Amino acid sequence: MSSLLLNASHNLCFKLSSSGCQWQPLLPNNTHRVSFSRVGAEKQGPIAALASAEQLVWPSPSDETPFWKRDFPSWNADSDVPSDVVKDSDPMHVIHVTAEMAPIAKVGGLGDVVTGLARACLSRGHTVDVMLPFYECIQRQQVVDLELVSTYNSYLEGEWIPVNAYRGVVTGIPVILIEPSNQFFKGKQVYGGCYNELEAYLFFSRACLEWMQVTGIQPDIIHVHEWQTGALPLLYWDMYHHLSLKKPRIVLTIHNMEHYGECRQEQISKCGLDGSAYATVEKAVDDRTIGHNPERLSLLKGGIVYSNAVVTVSPTYLKETLCSGWLAGTLIKSRDKYFGILNGIDTTMWNPATDAFLPAQFNAHNIEGKKLCKQYVQRGLGLISEASGSGNQMPDAAPEVPLVICITRLVPQKGLHLITHAIKRIEELGGQMIILGKASDARVESEFKHLADLHNQGPSIRILLLYSEELSHMLYAAADMVLVPSIYEPCGLSQMLGMRYGAVPIVRKTGGLADTVFDVDEQSNHHEMTNGFVFEGIDEGSFNWALDRAFTYHREKPEEWTGIVRRVMECDNTWNNTAGKYIEVYNSVRVA
Ligand code: ADP
Repeated sequence: MSSLLLNASHNLCFKLSSSGCQWQPLLPNNTHRVSFSRVGAEKQGPIAALASAEQLVWPSPSDETPFWKRDFPSWNADSDVPSDVVKDSDPMHVIHVTAEMAPIAKVGGLGDVVTGLARACLSRGHTVDVMLPFYECIQRQQVVDLELVSTYNSYLEGEWIPVNAYRGVVTGIPVILIEPSNQFFKGKQVYGGCYNELEAYLFFSRACLEWMQVTGIQPDIIHVHEWQTGALPLLYWDMYHHLSLKKPRIVLTIHNMEHYGECRQEQISKCGLDGSAYATVEKAVDDRTIGHNPERLSLLKGGIVYSNAVVTVSPTYLKETLCSGWLAGTLIKSRDKYFGILNGIDTTMWNPATDAFLPAQFNAHNIEGKKLCKQYVQRGLGLISEASGSGNQMPDAAPEVPLVICITRLVPQKGLHLITHAIKRIEELGGQMIILGKASDARVESEFKHLADLHNQGPSIRILLLYSEELSHMLYAAADMVLVPSIYEPCGLSQMLGMRYGAVPIVRKTGGLADTVFDVDEQSNHHEMTNGFVFEGIDEGSFNWALDRAFTYHREKPEEWTGIVRRVMECDNTWNNTAGKYIEVYNSVRVA
């Protein structure tokens, strides 16, 4: 039994100020508590407040400040941490060493995963710190209680470079930010600054161990992620373990096998290891370059070989990586210490019932707020909605045009040809589509820019080539369907986030998508677990088959559609489900 704080007069919790660009809390008058006891309500959480259409100040494409760039109420992450989590009996200290952490330094799912897993372990009673580079682009005001805690030196090419270590708290999670005094990590974004990225992460990996050594902090587990920190296990076992660090054991998570951290022997030598010592098949030689002159090393391979345990982000991706790709041989040899653990989503940051970025909150038992979110986004982007043209007066009728979103890095892995095909097909079917994406490749960027120029003035398609955490929350909340047509997808968070916000996923059956989305029309699936539309081929016909079925359900079977929306919102893709598997892995390698 839980209680839902309802505003009896349906007053709005947040309202634009007279300046037009400030969300301000309106004190709810006449509030009372309404009890309900449906299963799953606790997981979704009570709705922060119900919004009513009359009191929303609707955005428009001509607004001086786009609606996703307004100031939002600050997020009190502490208030939303699940309090009912059972504490583990034998708590340990875990330090994540990572290139990304949401929301301060997030490019894709890696950042979300580090934050979500760290929070889940904290709430189970463990001590967790996240170490990441102090990128110049990190906004200092997002780090609470930021303070310089140590200044020390770390090795680079025969010199000792001064390094500052700061401590702070990000959305309730303790962080240690490492700031070298050279040019590393300077620039406007997380990746792609004017410095050698590989050498910067090699330096960072060593600087984290050096910090542990100078401070005497010895966690039970050092959890490294991706190629960027793949050299840390080598540095640990071949250098720092012979110095004073004895206790830690190393766990590596591979979020995406696409990047191997290819490097030259001399580059490894720059961080103080003997690069030539790793140029063997058993250690870190990049097998693809055997016989080349010179052969290369792979930080990811070295990380796999030297870590005590290796995890990848879904059971299906684990199987895929054992069968294909040039690291398959190394992974097969490491089979005893290689695990597939599905990512979860961070329900503190992603909760439609409390989300500060949404114009109206909702949950699986009351999705009125979702309709408002859809109309809000449609209006803000100038998409036709049945509510259009009515000033601030919103009619009762909810827009019935299916709204499909796709929020992604625009890279080949994500099925770019199917995303561009979707634009055409969704238009033909009379739906609407919003793409929120950023391309790192200039050719892809210009292709999508061309498509944006072609469509963005029309009634049904919007292509937004930018990165916005705030807008992504609003789009998941607004969407009827979320599209993830990846060619391969280690886990995929987009489909899980979409589901949490009531968007039905349309996905290609690969990697973690196959582990989280179960086709509504597949007879062998248990009805209660079905939650989306799945296709297998990488051709347009296969894609159409899934999309067309989703549109048919949405238009012709409204009751069944409502049932699917409820089921997707009640899917438990949270870390509650899978953090325990990480704890088991940590426990299996930690020193008693
Ligand atoms: P990947 O890690 O391969 O990028 P995932 O689906 O695992 O893919 O995670 C992507 C994460 O990045 C999600 O949280 C998604 O919402 C977010 N994201 C991707 N592109 C953008 C963007 N342009 N703006 C805001 N968020 C984005």
